[in-house]
Amino acid sequence: ESSSDPPPPRHRVTAKGSNVPSPADSFGALKERYHLSSHILSNLSSNGFKHPTGIQSHGIPILLEGRDLAAISPTGTGKTLAYVLPLLHALRAPTPGGARAVILAPTKELAHQIHNECLRMAHGRKWRVVLFSKATAASLKDKNARDKVDVIVSTPLRLVAALQSGTLDLNNVRHLVLDEADRMLDAEFLTQVQEIVAACTHPEVQKAVFSATLPAGAEKIAMGMLRDPIRIVVGLKHV
Ligand code: ADP
Ligand code: MG
Repeated sequence: ESSSDPPPPRHRVTAKGSNVPSPADSFGALKERYHLSSHILSNLSSNGFKHPTGIQSHGIPILLEGRDLAAISPTGTGKTLAYVLPLLHALRAPTPGGARAVILAPTKELAHQIHNECLRMAHGRKWRVVLFSKATAASLKDKNARDKVDVIVSTPLRLVAALQSGTLDLNNVRHLVLDEADRMLDAEFLTQVQEIVAACTHPEVQKAVFSATLPAGAEKIAMGMLRDPIRIVVGLKHV
C-alpha cells in the first residue's frame, strides 16, 4: 500500500443515544482529540491502517469517551480494531492486579483472530493479552501469573469453567466486549455470558457489543445489559 491510497468507501452510519460523540475522520483527528499514544499510532501505521473505517470513525470516539455501545456493522468493516484500539488506550499501561478487560467471542477460531489483532496493536509494550485455553487456564492457577494479565480473550464456556472452579475472578474488569453479539446473546451462550457479566463486579464496567446483525431478541437483551447506550448501525450502501 502507498500513502496515496484512497480512503475506504464511506458507509451510511446512523447513531442513536444521548450525547453521541462526533465521529473522527482520521486517525490523526483521534490522536489530536484523545491524545492517542505514539505507540498505538505506530502500530496502526505498521499494520497499514491509514484511514478509519465507518465503524471505527464512529465507534472509537464513543468507546474512548467511556460510553456503552451496541455497534452493528457488516463483516469485514474492521469491528475488531474499533474496540481493541480504545481498550488499549483506556488501559494506558500494563498494570498488576488482574485482567482489566475481557473480550468474548463465540468460537476458538475467532478468539484466536481477535487475540492476534490485540497483539498487533499491543506491540512494543509489555501488555499481557491472554487467549484463554485449557493451557492458559491452567497457568493462571498461579496467582502471580494471574496478576499480570491485562486482557483476556475467550469463548464463554472456557471462561465460565475458570470462574466456577475458582481459579479466576473478574473483579478488576473495567471493559467487557461481546464480539459477534448475535451469537453471544442467543440461547447457546446467553446463560454463560450472563454469568460472566455478573462476575464483572466493578460498578463501572464499560460494555460494548459488536455484530454484523442483531436480531430483535438479541438487541433487546443487549440494550438491557448496557447503560445509557449508544447504538450505531453501519449500512452497506455507500453515501
Ligand atoms: P469485522 O470484525 O468487521 O468482520 P475485522 O475486524 O475482522 O472485520 O477486519 C477485517 C479486515 O480489515 C482485517 O484484515 C483488518 O486487519 C482490516 N482492517 C481493519 N481496520 C482497517 C483499516 N482502518 N484500514 C485497513 N484495514 C483494516
Ligand atoms: Mg469480527
